[in-house]
Amino acid sequence: MTTQLEFITLEDLVRGEVYDPADSDYAKEAAAFNVAVQHRPDAVLAARDAVDVVAGVRWASLNSVPLAVQGTGHGAERAVEGGLLISTRALRSVAIDPAARTATVGAGVKWRQVIDAAAPFGLAPLNGSSSDVGVVGYTLGGGLPVLGRTFGFAADSVVSFDVVTMDGVARTVSRTREPELFNLLCGGGRGLAIVTSVTMRLYRVSEIYGGVLVFDGEHASAVLRAFAAWAPTLRDASNTAFKFLRAPDLPQVPRELAGRLTVHVHFAHVGKGGPGALAPMRQSAPVLIDGVGVLPYSEVDRVYNDPVDPMPFASGGVGIKDLTPEAIDAALALAGPEAECLLPMLEFRLLGGALTSDDGRAASALGLGYAAHVVGVMAPPIAHLVPAEIERTLAALRVFGNGHTPRNFLGGALDTSSAWSDRVNAARAAAKDALDPEGLLRD
Ligand SMILES: Cc1cc2nc3c(=O)[nH]c(=O)nc-3n(C[C@H](O)[C@H](O)[C@H](O)COP(=O)(O)OP(=O)(O)OC[C@H]3O[C@@H](n4cnc5c(N)ncnc54)[C@H](O)[C@@H]3O)c2cc1C
Repeated sequence: MTTQLEFITLEDLVRGEVYDPADSDYAKEAAAFNVAVQHRPDAVLAARDAVDVVAGVRWASLNSVPLAVQGTGHGAERAVEGGLLISTRALRSVAIDPAARTATVGAGVKWRQVIDAAAPFGLAPLNGSSSDVGVVGYTLGGGLPVLGRTFGFAADSVVSFDVVTMDGVARTVSRTREPELFNLLCGGGRGLAIVTSVTMRLYRVSEIYGGVLVFDGEHASAVLRAFAAWAPTLRDASNTAFKFLRAPDLPQVPRELAGRLTVHVHFAHVGKGGPGALAPMRQSAPVLIDGVGVLPYSEVDRVYNDPVDPMPFASGGVGIKDLTPEAIDAALALAGPEAECLLPMLEFRLLGGALTSDDGRAASALGLGYAAHVVGVMAPPIAHLVPAEIERTLAALRVFGNGHTPRNFLGGALDTSSAWSDRVNAARAAAKDALDPEGLLRD
């Protein structure tokens, strides 16, 4: 156990604030986007810069104090108990190099900042469905972008990471400098080192043909069957997902969605041919809301319309091979109009395309089939039922599994090995032993 005295010593080493549970700002700094999780570390270091991160890591190593790191808390599904939590949210620098087509961003940066900084140059980053998510946590987990089939996992576009390893040394790792660690960080990287900044490639995309088609839940079977026949025929320029959504009956939810089942086809296409590619889905059933059109890339959030306010949730996922007729029947039994379903969302995101290219990085070549993802709301009166309901849903879908689930879709699962190949799992274990023999840094 750490003592108050040791935290006073840490305070002397850093420029940022160190909060303990008695401080009024402790809860604010430890807070996660997922408000179902309340971290209770012995102290939070609100790092002001990379030098503070080095000091925090050295101090924790010297005192054998368990260490965790948080950018935004979008990935928080298990609470940090005890030890030191390093918060990187103040590391907010973003630098765009338009000639090299790269962005270098600090560990507290959210995707929105990068999208807005890159847009004036006609460039786009490989963000996911919500631009409120943190760049670093998302990328260390592979990062499945809205345009993933077109450009690959975000981790496959990383040029270099600035990291602090548990020996307290700050290093830059890249394809040529410490390539083994670099390849692991690119998708397999949580719990190995603390990232202070990342440089990643940007892409020449200033607009997309994208958005969402919404159908009444009564058409779920027709739309899902049409989706399953259509999605595998798409070129890499097209990205899509199918979703069952049971939105709550709240004033802020659009009237057409509130308090009922709707099914959604999300679509994002780069270059010409978008309307033609989407046509079969527009004809699959009467469309309730047609929200697909030409969008500036800065409006990419309109493809998924993810929640932006902190909320209490739990989630889980499983990679599935194919939406066979049996898999479709199982999905309809779990979340279709006849189902007694407690979970607001079950989604199938089409993988393939550039997500299957392999350059040796941890995230590479695992993107086959579909990523099924399920989310539950951890609020009364059903919160206590949600984890079991998520597990029941995943168990029913695992029958159709392909053995691999993107790390970022695993939710609070304790066993994360299905996120990687056997080779990467072995390399991760060896790297963890070498870099963090005391096992102080948590994933
Ligand atoms: C609304 C929503 C939409 C999402 N959409 C997508 C999507 O489209 N595609 C996708 O791939 N994922 C998606 N995710 C999942 C998301 O990528 C993960 O939850 C990711 O962990 C979030 O990273 P973060 O930095 O925002 O969160 P945090 O909770 O701050 O970080 C998550 C974990 O990453 C590690 N970490 C964070 N910062 C550092 C650091 N500086 N150094 C070392 N380790 C660090 C820590 O282990 C931490 O627990 C979504 C999540 C939400 C809530």
